[in-house]
Amino acid sequence: MTYVVTEACIKCKYMDCVEVCPVDCFYVGENMLVIHPDECIDCGVCEPECPVDAILPDTEPGMERWLELNREYSATWPNITRKGEPPADADAHKGEAGKFEKYFSAEPGKD
Ligand code: SF4
Ligand code: SF4
Repeated sequence: MTYVVTEACIKCKYMDCVEVCPVDCFYVGENMLVIHPDECIDCGVCEPECPVDAILPDTEPGMERWLELNREYSATWPNITRKGEPPADADAHKGEAGKFEKYFSAEPGKD
């Protein structure tokens, strides 16, 4: 089992999660973060830190797609361990539907 970052993170990227992870297994894309499934120790500490409930255990229904996405991009995006500046329009995208189709970017972000 691992925890995974899901669609709600896209364009939000508040990054409260990276500060608490004991094994630094978050990786950053242009507009979302992912968790490396093989590095996550399933401690669950990050889950309640996310203000938009984007982090879920992969045991929840419908997580296969997100697990694959976390696995794929954690292999290429840079590691991130410190909270940065969230995007200025982060609050405007909170709770928005269909963010993956509208905004997902495979480009790496900056740590
Ligand atoms: S706290 Fe939540 S929304 Fe923010 S970067 Fe982490 S997973 Fe994404
Ligand atoms: S569950 Fe624990 S180890 Fe896994 S990403 Fe969250 S804080 Fe890190």
